[in-house]
Amino acid sequence: MSERAAPFYCPYCGDEDLRPSEEGHGAWECAACNRAFQLKFLGLLTRGLQRTGGGGEEI
Ligand SMILES: [Zn+2]
Repeated sequence: MSERAAPFYCPYCGDEDLRPSEEGHGAWECAACNRAFQLKFLGLLTRGLQRTGGGGEEI
């Protein structure tokens, strides 16, 4: 089962009356402002995976 990200508020008018759109995966329609938008998962952040340089110092 695929997990879908569901928005709680319309990013344009802030209304909560959202419903899944037939346009495609991740598409939503706002009944308040009649806008359709699509959520897209871009990927995971690499935050916290950076290694700080340390050790290996040669004098
Ligand atoms: Zn809206």
